[in-house]
Amino acid sequence: MSKIIAINAGSSSLKFTLYQMPEEEAVSSGIIERIGLKDSIFTIKYGEGKKYSVTEDIDNHEIAVEKLMTQLVELGIITDFNEITGVGHRIVAGGEDFKESALIDDEALAKIEALGELAPLHNPANATGIRAFKKLLPEITSVAVFDTAFHADMPAVNYLYSIPMEYYEDFAARKYGAHGTSHQYVSERAAELLGKPLEDLKIITCHLGNGASITAVDGGKSIDTSMGFTPLAGLTMGTRSGDIDASLLPYLMNKLEITDINEMVNILNKKSGLLGLSGVSSDMRDVETEAEAGDERSQLALDIFYNRVQKYIGQYIATMNGVDAIVFTAGIGENSAMTRQIIIDGISWFGCDIDEERNNVRGEERIISTDAAKVQVLLIPTDEEKVILNDVIRLSK
Ligand code: ADP
Repeated sequence: MSKIIAINAGSSSLKFTLYQMPEEEAVSSGIIERIGLKDSIFTIKYGEGKKYSVTEDIDNHEIAVEKLMTQLVELGIITDFNEITGVGHRIVAGGEDFKESALIDDEALAKIEALGELAPLHNPANATGIRAFKKLLPEITSVAVFDTAFHADMPAVNYLYSIPMEYYEDFAARKYGAHGTSHQYVSERAAELLGKPLEDLKIITCHLGNGASITAVDGGKSIDTSMGFTPLAGLTMGTRSGDIDASLLPYLMNKLEITDINEMVNILNKKSGLLGLSGVSSDMRDVETEAEAGDERSQLALDIFYNRVQKYIGQYIATMNGVDAIVFTAGIGENSAMTRQIIIDGISWFGCDIDEERNNVRGEERIISTDAAKVQVLLIPTDEEKVILNDVIRLSK
Protein backbone atom coordinates (compact mmCIF):
# COMPACT_ATOMS: atom_id res chain seq x y z
CA MET A 1 0.00 0.00 0.00
CA SER A 2 1.70 3.17 -1.13
CA LYS A 3 0.67 6.76 -0.59
CA ILE A 4 1.38 10.15 -2.12
CA ILE A 5 1.32 13.38 -0.15
CA ALA A 6 0.52 16.86 -1.49
CA ILE A 7 2.12 19.70 0.47
CA ASN A 8 1.31 23.40 0.57
CA ALA A 9 3.87 25.15 2.78
CA GLY A 10 3.28 28.80 3.63
CA SER A 11 5.43 31.11 5.70
CA SER A 12 3.84 29.96 8.96
CA SER A 13 1.72 27.00 7.93
CA LEU A 14 1.91 23.61 6.28
CA LYS A 15 -1.14 21.98 4.71
CA PHE A 16 -1.22 18.41 3.46
CA THR A 17 -3.46 15.90 1.73
CA LEU A 18 -2.56 12.22 1.76
CA TYR A 19 -3.70 9.95 -1.07
CA GLN A 20 -4.05 6.18 -1.06
CA MET A 21 -2.63 4.67 -4.23
CA PRO A 22 -3.53 3.37 -6.72
CA GLU A 23 -7.11 4.40 -5.84
CA GLU A 24 -6.06 8.08 -5.68
CA GLU A 25 -8.42 8.43 -2.72
CA ALA A 26 -7.79 11.24 -0.22
CA VAL A 27 -7.51 9.41 3.12
CA SER A 28 -6.27 12.20 5.34
CA SER A 29 -5.66 15.92 5.31
CA GLY A 30 -4.67 18.58 7.75
CA ILE A 31 -2.81 21.70 8.62
CA ILE A 32 -0.14 22.92 10.98
CA GLU A 33 -0.67 26.61 11.66
CA ARG A 34 1.38 29.23 13.52
CA ILE A 35 4.70 27.47 12.83
CA GLY A 36 7.46 29.46 14.53
CA LEU A 37 4.97 31.21 16.83
CA LYS A 38 3.66 30.30 20.29
CA ASP A 39 0.83 27.77 20.42
CA SER A 40 1.06 26.25 16.97
CA ILE A 41 -2.11 24.37 16.03
CA PHE A 42 -1.80 20.93 14.50
CA THR A 43 -4.90 19.28 13.03
CA ILE A 44 -5.28 16.00 11.14
CA LYS A 45 -8.53 14.72 9.67
CA TYR A 46 -8.70 11.01 8.86
CA GLY A 47 -10.91 7.94 8.76
CA GLU A 48 -14.61 8.57 8.77
CA GLY A 49 -14.97 11.97 10.41
CA LYS A 50 -12.09 11.45 12.86
CA LYS A 51 -10.02 14.41 13.92
CA TYR A 52 -6.75 14.79 15.82
CA SER A 53 -5.97 18.24 17.13
CA VAL A 54 -3.27 19.55 19.44
CA THR A 55 -1.83 22.94 20.37
CA GLU A 56 1.91 23.03 21.06
CA ASP A 57 4.92 25.11 20.04
CA ILE A 58 6.32 23.99 16.68
CA ASP A 59 9.44 26.02 15.99
CA ASN A 60 10.09 25.45 12.31
CA HIS A 61 8.99 23.58 9.18
CA GLU A 62 11.48 20.76 9.73
CA ILE A 63 9.99 19.98 13.13
CA ALA A 64 6.50 20.36 11.63
CA VAL A 65 7.23 17.71 8.99
CA GLU A 66 8.74 15.35 11.58
CA LYS A 67 5.71 15.77 13.84
CA LEU A 68 3.35 15.25 10.93
CA MET A 69 5.02 12.02 9.81
CA THR A 70 5.28 10.66 13.35
CA GLN A 71 1.64 11.45 14.03
CA LEU A 72 0.51 9.81 10.78
CA VAL A 73 2.16 6.60 12.04
CA GLU A 74 0.79 6.95 15.57
CA LEU A 75 -2.76 7.40 14.31
CA GLY A 76 -2.31 4.34 12.11
CA ILE A 77 -2.87 6.34 8.92
CA ILE A 78 0.44 4.96 7.62
CA THR A 79 2.36 1.99 9.03
CA ASP A 80 5.79 3.53 8.46
CA PHE A 81 7.44 6.40 6.59
CA ASN A 82 8.33 4.18 3.61
CA GLU A 83 4.66 3.88 2.76
CA ILE A 84 4.89 7.38 1.30
CA THR A 85 6.44 7.03 -2.14
CA GLY A 86 5.93 10.50 -3.56
CA VAL A 87 5.53 14.08 -2.45
CA GLY A 88 4.25 17.04 -4.46
CA HIS A 89 4.96 20.59 -3.32
CA ARG A 90 2.91 23.60 -4.31
CA ILE A 91 5.32 26.40 -5.27
CA VAL A 92 4.08 29.95 -5.71
CA ALA A 93 6.59 31.40 -8.19
CA GLY A 94 8.10 29.45 -11.08
CA GLY A 95 9.17 32.50 -13.05
CA GLU A 96 10.15 31.83 -16.63
CA ASP A 97 12.24 28.81 -15.61
CA PHE A 98 9.34 26.51 -14.87
CA LYS A 99 6.64 26.26 -17.51
CA GLU A 100 5.40 22.98 -16.07
CA SER A 101 5.76 20.81 -13.00
CA ALA A 102 9.26 19.44 -12.38
CA LEU A 103 11.13 16.77 -10.44
CA ILE A 104 13.01 18.45 -7.61
CA ASP A 105 16.75 17.80 -7.76
CA ASP A 106 19.39 20.08 -6.22
CA GLU A 107 19.41 22.29 -9.29
CA ALA A 108 15.62 22.75 -9.28
CA LEU A 109 15.65 23.51 -5.57
CA ALA A 110 18.35 26.15 -6.07
CA LYS A 111 16.24 27.73 -8.83
CA ILE A 112 13.13 27.74 -6.64
CA GLU A 113 15.10 29.52 -3.93
CA ALA A 114 16.52 32.04 -6.40
CA LEU A 115 12.95 32.77 -7.54
CA GLY A 116 12.32 33.99 -3.99
CA GLU A 117 13.14 37.36 -5.51
CA LEU A 118 9.76 37.24 -7.24
CA ALA A 119 7.84 35.85 -4.23
CA PRO A 120 9.75 36.76 -1.07
CA LEU A 121 6.95 35.69 1.26
CA HIS A 122 6.28 32.35 -0.39
CA ASN A 123 9.12 30.65 -2.24
CA PRO A 124 11.50 30.56 0.74
CA ALA A 125 8.73 28.89 2.79
CA ASN A 126 8.02 26.45 -0.05
CA ALA A 127 11.75 25.62 -0.22
CA THR A 128 11.85 25.01 3.52
CA GLY A 129 9.03 22.48 3.12
CA ILE A 130 10.93 20.72 0.32
CA ARG A 131 14.13 20.54 2.43
CA ALA A 132 12.27 19.16 5.43
CA PHE A 133 10.78 16.32 3.35
CA LYS A 134 14.09 15.64 1.56
CA LYS A 135 15.78 15.22 4.93
CA LEU A 136 13.21 12.81 6.27
CA LEU A 137 12.40 10.93 3.04
CA PRO A 138 15.46 11.38 0.81
CA GLU A 139 14.64 8.60 -1.65
CA ILE A 140 11.07 9.40 -2.69
CA THR A 141 9.91 11.15 -5.84
CA SER A 142 9.68 14.85 -5.10
CA VAL A 143 7.77 17.09 -7.49
CA ALA A 144 7.28 20.86 -7.65
CA VAL A 145 3.95 22.16 -8.97
CA PHE A 146 3.99 25.86 -9.77
CA ASP A 147 1.14 28.34 -9.33
CA THR A 148 2.49 30.29 -12.28
CA ALA A 149 3.17 27.44 -14.73
CA PHE A 150 -0.25 27.48 -16.40
CA HIS A 151 0.26 31.16 -17.26
CA ALA A 152 3.89 30.91 -18.34
CA ASP A 153 3.05 30.64 -22.04
CA MET A 154 0.76 33.66 -22.20
CA PRO A 155 1.42 35.76 -25.29
CA ALA A 156 3.84 38.65 -24.78
CA VAL A 157 1.01 41.04 -25.63
CA ASN A 158 -0.59 40.05 -22.34
CA TYR A 159 2.39 39.41 -20.06
CA LEU A 160 4.36 42.56 -20.86
CA TYR A 161 3.79 45.77 -18.94
CA SER A 162 4.04 49.01 -20.91
CA ILE A 163 7.32 49.97 -19.28
CA PRO A 164 10.84 50.16 -20.81
CA MET A 165 11.49 46.81 -22.52
CA GLU A 166 14.88 46.46 -20.81
CA TYR A 167 13.14 45.90 -17.50
CA TYR A 168 11.64 42.73 -18.89
CA GLU A 169 14.80 41.70 -20.71
CA ASP A 170 17.18 42.45 -17.84
CA PHE A 171 15.05 41.81 -14.77
CA ALA A 172 12.20 39.51 -15.93
CA ALA A 173 9.67 42.18 -14.89
CA ARG A 174 6.43 40.83 -16.34
CA LYS A 175 3.04 39.41 -15.42
CA TYR A 176 3.27 35.89 -13.95
CA GLY A 177 -0.22 35.38 -12.51
CA ALA A 178 -1.11 32.76 -9.89
CA HIS A 179 -3.73 30.12 -8.98
CA GLY A 180 -2.62 28.33 -12.17
CA THR A 181 -3.37 24.82 -10.93
CA SER A 182 -6.90 25.89 -10.05
CA HIS A 183 -7.61 27.67 -13.34
CA GLN A 184 -6.21 24.70 -15.25
CA TYR A 185 -8.19 22.13 -13.27
CA VAL A 186 -11.56 23.89 -13.49
CA SER A 187 -11.19 24.68 -17.18
CA GLU A 188 -10.48 21.01 -17.92
CA ARG A 189 -13.43 19.91 -15.78
CA ALA A 190 -15.65 22.48 -17.54
CA ALA A 191 -14.85 20.97 -20.94
CA GLU A 192 -15.64 17.51 -19.57
CA LEU A 193 -18.95 18.67 -18.10
CA LEU A 194 -19.88 20.43 -21.33
CA GLY A 195 -18.88 17.34 -23.33
CA LYS A 196 -16.78 19.39 -25.72
CA PRO A 197 -13.06 19.32 -26.58
CA LEU A 198 -11.13 21.85 -24.48
CA GLU A 199 -9.28 22.92 -27.63
CA ASP A 200 -12.52 24.29 -29.07
CA LEU A 201 -13.58 26.31 -26.03
CA LYS A 202 -13.10 29.87 -24.82
CA ILE A 203 -13.49 29.78 -21.04
CA ILE A 204 -13.24 32.46 -18.35
CA THR A 205 -12.36 30.95 -14.98
CA CYS A 206 -13.16 32.98 -11.85
CA HIS A 207 -11.22 31.76 -8.81
CA LEU A 208 -12.88 33.80 -6.08
CA GLY A 209 -11.44 32.97 -2.68
CA ASN A 210 -9.59 35.00 -0.12
CA GLY A 211 -7.12 35.54 -2.92
CA ALA A 212 -9.00 35.99 -6.19
CA SER A 213 -8.06 35.89 -9.86
CA ILE A 214 -9.67 35.51 -13.27
CA THR A 215 -8.14 33.79 -16.28
CA ALA A 216 -8.94 33.77 -19.98
CA VAL A 217 -8.47 30.16 -21.13
CA ASP A 218 -8.49 29.86 -24.92
CA GLY A 219 -8.26 26.33 -26.30
CA GLY A 220 -7.01 25.03 -22.94
CA LYS A 221 -4.24 27.64 -22.62
CA SER A 222 -4.11 30.58 -20.25
CA ILE A 223 -3.78 33.61 -22.47
CA ASP A 224 -4.32 36.29 -19.83
CA THR A 225 -4.89 36.48 -16.09
CA SER A 226 -5.75 39.18 -13.59
CA MET A 227 -2.92 38.75 -11.10
CA GLY A 228 0.33 40.36 -12.13
CA PHE A 229 4.01 40.33 -11.26
CA THR A 230 2.70 39.21 -7.85
CA PRO A 231 -0.77 38.20 -6.61
CA LEU A 232 -1.46 41.81 -5.58
CA ALA A 233 -2.91 42.84 -8.93
CA GLY A 234 -6.35 42.41 -10.47
CA LEU A 235 -9.55 41.93 -8.48
CA THR A 236 -10.60 43.29 -5.10
CA MET A 237 -9.66 40.49 -2.69
CA GLY A 238 -10.06 39.70 1.01
CA THR A 239 -7.20 41.99 2.03
CA ARG A 240 -5.52 42.88 -1.30
CA SER A 241 -6.35 46.03 -3.21
CA GLY A 242 -6.12 44.59 -6.71
CA ASP A 243 -5.37 47.10 -9.48
CA ILE A 244 -4.53 50.66 -8.45
CA ASP A 245 -2.66 53.56 -10.01
CA ALA A 246 1.01 53.28 -8.93
CA SER A 247 1.11 57.05 -8.39
CA LEU A 248 -1.03 56.56 -5.29
CA LEU A 249 1.99 55.05 -3.56
CA PRO A 250 4.20 58.17 -3.24
CA TYR A 251 1.10 60.31 -2.58
CA LEU A 252 -0.13 58.14 0.29
CA MET A 253 3.36 57.56 1.66
CA ASN A 254 3.73 61.30 1.93
CA LYS A 255 0.36 61.73 3.66
CA LEU A 256 0.86 58.78 6.00
CA GLU A 257 4.50 59.68 6.67
CA ILE A 258 5.63 56.25 5.58
CA THR A 259 9.24 56.12 4.38
CA ASP A 260 9.59 52.41 3.66
CA ILE A 261 7.80 51.44 0.46
CA ASN A 262 7.49 47.86 1.70
CA GLU A 263 5.24 49.13 4.46
CA MET A 264 2.99 50.75 1.87
CA VAL A 265 2.89 47.58 -0.25
CA ASN A 266 2.10 45.64 2.89
CA ILE A 267 -0.97 47.85 3.42
CA LEU A 268 -2.10 47.05 -0.13
CA ASN A 269 -1.59 43.33 0.53
CA LYS A 270 -2.91 42.97 4.05
CA LYS A 271 -5.20 45.87 4.94
CA SER A 272 -7.04 46.64 1.74
CA GLY A 273 -9.66 44.85 -0.35
CA LEU A 274 -12.92 43.83 1.36
CA LEU A 275 -11.31 44.45 4.75
CA GLY A 276 -10.15 47.97 3.97
CA LEU A 277 -13.35 48.96 2.21
CA SER A 278 -15.84 47.52 4.69
CA GLY A 279 -13.82 48.12 7.83
CA VAL A 280 -15.53 44.94 9.03
CA SER A 281 -13.74 41.85 7.80
CA SER A 282 -11.76 40.27 4.98
CA ASP A 283 -14.15 37.33 5.05
CA MET A 284 -16.93 37.43 2.47
CA ARG A 285 -19.43 35.78 4.83
CA ASP A 286 -18.98 38.57 7.40
CA VAL A 287 -19.22 41.30 4.77
CA GLU A 288 -22.39 39.75 3.32
CA THR A 289 -23.92 39.50 6.79
CA GLU A 290 -23.11 43.12 7.66
CA ALA A 291 -24.39 44.38 4.31
CA GLU A 292 -27.63 42.49 4.83
CA ALA A 293 -27.96 44.13 8.24
CA GLY A 294 -27.81 47.50 6.53
CA ASP A 295 -24.13 48.45 6.79
CA GLU A 296 -23.51 50.72 3.80
CA ARG A 297 -19.74 50.38 3.69
CA SER A 298 -20.07 46.60 3.57
CA GLN A 299 -22.60 46.87 0.75
CA LEU A 300 -20.24 49.18 -1.14
CA ALA A 301 -17.38 46.71 -0.61
CA LEU A 302 -19.55 43.96 -2.12
CA ASP A 303 -20.56 46.17 -5.05
CA ILE A 304 -16.91 46.95 -5.79
CA PHE A 305 -16.01 43.26 -5.57
CA TYR A 306 -18.76 42.31 -8.10
CA ASN A 307 -17.85 45.25 -10.33
CA ARG A 308 -14.19 44.25 -10.66
CA VAL A 309 -15.12 40.66 -11.52
CA GLN A 310 -17.55 41.89 -14.18
CA LYS A 311 -14.95 44.24 -15.65
CA TYR A 312 -12.40 41.47 -15.99
CA ILE A 313 -14.96 39.15 -17.57
CA GLY A 314 -15.71 41.92 -20.07
CA GLN A 315 -12.02 42.40 -20.79
CA TYR A 316 -11.49 38.72 -21.39
CA ILE A 317 -14.50 38.38 -23.66
CA ALA A 318 -12.86 41.14 -25.72
CA THR A 319 -9.39 39.55 -25.49
CA MET A 320 -10.68 36.18 -26.73
CA ASN A 321 -13.27 37.74 -29.03
CA GLY A 322 -15.97 35.63 -27.46
CA VAL A 323 -16.69 33.23 -24.62
CA ASP A 324 -18.34 29.81 -24.40
CA ALA A 325 -18.29 29.32 -20.64
CA ILE A 326 -17.72 31.17 -17.38
CA VAL A 327 -16.64 29.09 -14.39
CA PHE A 328 -16.92 29.99 -10.69
CA THR A 329 -14.67 28.33 -8.14
CA ALA A 330 -12.94 28.68 -4.70
CA GLY A 331 -14.51 29.73 -1.38
CA ILE A 332 -16.69 32.58 -2.62
CA GLY A 333 -17.21 31.26 -6.15
CA GLU A 334 -18.32 27.86 -4.85
CA ASN A 335 -20.41 28.95 -1.88
CA SER A 336 -21.93 32.36 -2.50
CA ALA A 337 -24.94 31.90 -4.79
CA MET A 338 -25.65 35.61 -4.41
CA THR A 339 -22.21 36.58 -5.75
CA ARG A 340 -22.68 34.37 -8.82
CA GLN A 341 -26.19 35.64 -9.43
CA ILE A 342 -25.34 39.34 -9.16
CA ILE A 343 -22.21 39.09 -11.30
CA ILE A 344 -23.95 37.18 -14.08
CA ASP A 345 -27.17 39.24 -13.95
CA GLY A 346 -25.06 42.34 -14.59
CA ILE A 347 -23.51 40.97 -17.78
CA SER A 348 -26.63 39.48 -19.37
CA TRP A 349 -26.00 41.50 -22.54
CA PHE A 350 -23.26 39.02 -23.45
CA GLY A 351 -25.79 36.17 -23.50
CA CYS A 352 -25.35 34.98 -19.92
CA ASP A 353 -28.43 33.88 -18.00
CA ILE A 354 -28.31 32.11 -14.68
CA ASP A 355 -30.95 29.57 -13.63
CA GLU A 356 -31.94 30.56 -10.10
CA GLU A 357 -32.76 27.06 -8.97
CA ARG A 358 -29.60 25.51 -10.43
CA ASN A 359 -27.56 28.31 -8.90
CA ASN A 360 -29.03 27.82 -5.47
CA VAL A 361 -26.51 25.17 -4.37
CA ARG A 362 -23.16 25.19 -2.65
CA GLY A 363 -20.00 23.54 -3.87
CA GLU A 364 -21.69 21.03 -6.15
CA GLU A 365 -20.19 20.66 -9.62
CA ARG A 366 -22.80 21.64 -12.18
CA ILE A 367 -23.99 23.90 -15.00
CA ILE A 368 -25.96 26.79 -13.49
CA SER A 369 -27.03 28.71 -16.61
CA THR A 370 -30.40 28.29 -18.29
CA ASP A 371 -30.70 25.91 -21.24
CA ALA A 372 -31.34 28.85 -23.56
CA ALA A 373 -28.28 30.87 -22.49
CA LYS A 374 -25.65 31.51 -25.15
CA VAL A 375 -22.85 31.41 -22.58
CA GLN A 376 -22.71 28.47 -20.19
CA VAL A 377 -22.05 29.28 -16.54
CA LEU A 378 -20.61 26.55 -14.33
CA LEU A 379 -19.87 26.00 -10.67
CA ILE A 380 -16.84 23.73 -10.26
CA PRO A 381 -15.18 23.14 -6.88
CA THR A 382 -11.46 23.48 -7.36
CA ASP A 383 -9.06 20.71 -6.36
CA GLU A 384 -5.51 21.98 -6.46
CA GLU A 385 -4.25 18.98 -4.48
CA LYS A 386 -5.60 16.65 -7.16
CA VAL A 387 -3.52 18.47 -9.77
CA ILE A 388 -0.45 18.05 -7.55
CA LEU A 389 -1.26 14.34 -7.13
CA ASN A 390 -1.65 13.84 -10.88
CA ASP A 391 1.68 15.52 -11.57
CA VAL A 392 3.47 13.38 -8.98
CA ILE A 393 1.99 10.26 -10.60
CA ARG A 394 2.93 11.46 -14.11
CA LEU A 395 6.49 12.43 -13.22
CA SER A 396 7.09 9.26 -11.18
CA LYS A 397 6.81 7.23 -14.36
P1 ADP B 1 -8.16 30.85 0.30
O1 ADP B 1 -7.72 31.86 -0.70
O2 ADP B 1 -7.76 31.20 1.70
O3 ADP B 1 -7.94 29.42 -0.08
P2 ADP B 1 -10.95 30.14 0.06
O4 ADP B 1 -10.98 29.67 -1.33
O5 ADP B 1 -11.11 29.16 1.15
O6 ADP B 1 -9.73 31.08 0.35
O7 ADP B 1 -12.13 31.25 0.21
C1 ADP B 1 -12.34 31.93 1.38
C2 ADP B 1 -13.49 32.90 1.13
O8 ADP B 1 -14.67 32.17 0.80
C3 ADP B 1 -13.80 33.75 2.34
O9 ADP B 1 -13.99 35.10 1.95
C4 ADP B 1 -15.13 33.17 2.81
O10 ADP B 1 -15.93 34.11 3.45
C5 ADP B 1 -15.74 32.76 1.50
N1 ADP B 1 -16.86 31.84 1.73
C6 ADP B 1 -16.83 30.59 2.22
N2 ADP B 1 -18.10 30.11 2.37
C7 ADP B 1 -18.93 31.09 1.98
C8 ADP B 1 -20.35 31.23 1.90
N3 ADP B 1 -21.17 30.26 2.27
N4 ADP B 1 -20.85 32.40 1.43
C9 ADP B 1 -20.04 33.40 1.08
N5 ADP B 1 -18.71 33.33 1.12
C10 ADP B 1 -18.14 32.21 1.56
